[in-house]
Amino acid sequence: MISISELSVGPSGYFGGQMAKKGMLVPLVTMETQGFRQSDFFWAKAGELALLKTGCDDYEHVDGGCGCKRSFTGFSSRKCSTTAVIVEVDDTSFLRKLTQEEINWVVRAGRRFNEGDVIERRDNKIQKRVNANDV
Ligand SMILES: [Zn+2]
Repeated sequence: MISISELSVGPSGYFGGQMAKKGMLVPLVTMETQGFRQSDFFWAKAGELALLKTGCDDYEHVDGGCGCKRSFTGFSSRKCSTTAVIVEVDDTSFLRKLTQEEINWVVRAGRRFNEGDVIERRDNKIQKRVNANDV
């Protein structure tokens, strides 16, 4: 099983003063581009923080029935979606409710992608979803 901290979402390690800054890029659950992949699904709530959970087992295919290896988990609903979008938020108080591992994911995603990027998860890879021709 791969741990979240091993996922290839960009440089790891110390992230300096980013958390203290006003305005922070974070991944939020979105319905944007839903349906580009046949395996897309959307059970979370649009606009909630998109977290990354470890896949349930090593044998599950990324497009398999479980969905854990291609989905983000909504912070509030705890339900999943295959799409998230990078958005700048001013209120970062939600960080206090996250585990360190969750904070690392949020910060790294915000650093790696640009505002407005729709992102997807392909097992241990997080990538920008550009358009339907890319899938
Ligand atoms: Zn699973």
